[in-house]
Amino acid sequence: MKIQPLLDHAVSGGRLDPADAAVLLRSEDWTSIVAAGHARRNRLHDPEVVSYTAYRVINYTNFCDIDCTFCSFKDEIESDRGYTLSREQVAAKTEEALALGVDQIFFQGGVNPKLPLEYYTDTLRMLRDQYGVALRAFSPIELYRLAEKTGMPLPALLEELKAAGLGSVPGAGAEILTERMRAVLSPKKLSGEEWCAVMGECHKAGLPGSCNIVFGSTETPEDIAEHLRLLRDQQDKTGGFLSFIPWIFQAQTKRFPIRHVTGREYLRLLAVSRLFLDNIPHVEVSIMVMGRELAELGLTAGADDINSIVIEENVLKSSGLKTLRAAERFIRDAGFRPARRTMNYEFGKYPENAPEPVIAAPSR
Ligand code: SF4
Repeated sequence: MKIQPLLDHAVSGGRLDPADAAVLLRSEDWTSIVAAGHARRNRLHDPEVVSYTAYRVINYTNFCDIDCTFCSFKDEIESDRGYTLSREQVAAKTEEALALGVDQIFFQGGVNPKLPLEYYTDTLRMLRDQYGVALRAFSPIELYRLAEKTGMPLPALLEELKAAGLGSVPGAGAEILTERMRAVLSPKKLSGEEWCAVMGECHKAGLPGSCNIVFGSTETPEDIAEHLRLLRDQQDKTGGFLSFIPWIFQAQTKRFPIRHVTGREYLRLLAVSRLFLDNIPHVEVSIMVMGRELAELGLTAGADDINSIVIEENVLKSSGLKTLRAAERFIRDAGFRPARRTMNYEFGKYPENAPEPVIAAPSR
C-alpha cells in the first residue's frame, strides 16, 4: 500500500485512523514516515527550537502490592527490605536538587496501602511551602488506590492533593493500554478505560500532565494504534495531555518478554505518534531511556522536546543528561536552539545563559 497519501493528509493536519497508524507502523518506508513526522512538528513548533526541563525523581516508597511482570523495583508489602522515605529524607533530596538548579520534583512510588493520606499531603505541602518547587506526582494507579483506601471520590482526593501543592499528574503506568497487553504486563493495574478515566479526572481538576507508550514486548502494530487512539480520544474529551513520550521496555525481570527494538522502529513509532496525536501539543524524546544518539535523531522525526535532566530514577536505568548546560549543549550539537521550559510547558520563566549552579553529587 502507498503510504504517501496518508502522510500528506497527516502533515497538513488531517486525522489518521487507527488502521492508518497500523499500516504506517508496518511500513518499511520508515524514512518517508520520519520526514513526515518532522514536517508536522515543524508546522506546530518553531523549527529551530527544542525545549527541555529539569526535575528530580523521588521514588518515595518501593513497597507495592501491584505485580507488574516487568518491574524489579518493587518490594512486597510484608518484605523487610523495602523502604519508605521520611519527610526528612525527601527534604534532603529536594535540597540537593535545588543546589543543582532543579526546581521540580517528580514524586512517585509503588502502590503502598500502608501509607495514610497525610503522608502525601504533608509531604507535598512541605515541598511547596519550604522549597517552592513545582510538583508532579503519582500515577493513575496510585491515585485510584488512594481514593479507594480513603473512601474519597477521586475528584475530592485530587482537590485535596492540589491544595497541598500538586501541580501535574504524569500519565505513568500506561505502558500499552490494550486488554491483551494488560494481561501480559500487569493484570492488577487499571484497564485502558480506567487509566484514561483517572487521567481525565486529573485534567478536569486542572492537573495537566503527559502520556506515554512503553513498547518492545509482544505488542502488535494494532495494539500500538489502539493505545494511541485511547490517548487521542481522552485528549479530545479533557485536553490535559501536554506531551507524549515513547519509551522502550528495559530488561528488569525474567518474567516479562522483551525484544530488541531497532533504531528505525523507534523513530518510525515516534513519527507515527506525532502524526496520529494531532491534539497533543508536544512529543518528547527520552535521552534517559533511548540514549543520546537515538534521542538526537528523534529531534528530526517529530519530537520537539528532550524531556529533561533527570536526577535519580530507580525504576529505569538512567543514561540522562546531568546538568542544565549539558542539556543545552546537547540541543545545540543537534542543530537547535535550547529553550528551558517549566513542568507544564510555560516558556520565559528562565533567563537564557543563567549561571550554572555548583554541582554537588546527589546522594543515592
Ligand atoms: S511498575 Fe510501579 S505499580 Fe508496577 S510493580 Fe513496579 S512499582 Fe508497582
